[in-house]
Amino acid sequence: MTSASEPSRDDADIAMARLDALAACTDEPGRITRLAFSPALRDANARVLAWMREAGMAAGIDAAGNVVGRWEAETAGASAVMIGSHLDTVRDGGRYDGPLGVVAGIAVVERLRREGRRLPLAVEVIGFADEEGVRFGGSILGSAAVAGTLAPDWRERRDADGIDAATALRSFGVDPDGVGAASRRRDPPAAYLELHIEQGPALEDADVPLGCVTAIAGATRLLVTVDGTAGHAGTVPMRLRRDALAAAAECVLAVERLCAGAEAVGTVGHLRVAPDAVNVIPGRVRFSVDIRAAQDEVRTRLVDAALAEFQASARRRRVELAWQVTSRTETTPCSPRLVEALAGVLAGMGLPAPRLASGAGHDGIAVSAITEIGMLFLRCAGGISHHPAESVTVADVRLGIEALHRWSLALRRG
Ligand SMILES: [Zn+2]
Repeated sequence: MTSASEPSRDDADIAMARLDALAACTDEPGRITRLAFSPALRDANARVLAWMREAGMAAGIDAAGNVVGRWEAETAGASAVMIGSHLDTVRDGGRYDGPLGVVAGIAVVERLRREGRRLPLAVEVIGFADEEGVRFGGSILGSAAVAGTLAPDWRERRDADGIDAATALRSFGVDPDGVGAASRRRDPPAAYLELHIEQGPALEDADVPLGCVTAIAGATRLLVTVDGTAGHAGTVPMRLRRDALAAAAECVLAVERLCAGAEAVGTVGHLRVAPDAVNVIPGRVRFSVDIRAAQDEVRTRLVDAALAEFQASARRRRVELAWQVTSRTETTPCSPRLVEALAGVLAGMGLPAPRLASGAGHDGIAVSAITEIGMLFLRCAGGISHHPAESVTVADVRLGIEALHRWSLALRRG
């Protein structure tokens, strides 16, 4: 693409100012906390809605509380390239994870407006309302509503204050009985594009501003219980012990060793010991395992290998082992066509186009049920996300907007 205009300083500067304005929409003063369907999210939606309208888009809040704007195509009613991300955050989060993709999408449309340009496809920008899943324990609405894949029990889920999701929606100004109307199953976008901070250090390590995401890694989570025998720390000889924590420690290290030797990541993030006392041999330990890989067969093989090692440790140490799979998500591949188009865009900008998988989940997982998805990662300082220290440079944001703009122009219907 050589026809795209040079990046204007204003685009990135305005985007950064808007990200600061959104950071001020918070449920907890002094922190950035915008939970799904909270007053702070309603504020953020109102700001985004105003920016969309200033950019010449037809915009509104959809039936699930997402904010959506549309820049019409050459032919009215044509299908759309959807550009988006989420506007909710974790508690005490950062200002870029999510909102960056929304303000960058608006910047793309502002350019089209400045250039007086309509495309064969419309451009829609969407800010999803519930991606982080902090409030109701799982991403219940937002992109799932747009994809028409809402969990059957979404209405009954409750937040920490006991407020159910249906009530939360009502106080947000959304009719819980009408949420189904947000589904785009009958009118799916032609493609979904998302610009998101990397949430990892690979781009920074490689000294590269942008990267092409090939897939959103699948994840398997286990809850493992090890049962040994509790006893007095001072009286039971070592050779007679059935120490559940010592066995669990071997399991934790096995996860680390197996994943370090593969294209995967594995984490034991939660471990509970009972009894929990300095002078008692642990009788029961429960721990979580989270294994992710961009290839499902790699993940499945690692889960099997980890369980085999857990069982071997349990036999050796004469403890009982039980486990259950608490969640399993398959890998969501990005569309090869969109990845190729993005790589071409980055090459045209004189940039490297490293390919990497996303270890974290994104709205694209849900949206992939109705259309092909593509993701563009932007370098973030230290790979930090979900934290106030999240940081990006205005120069990288400028490149990100330019790439997103060229990527949208490169797409043709079908
Ligand atoms: Zn995010």
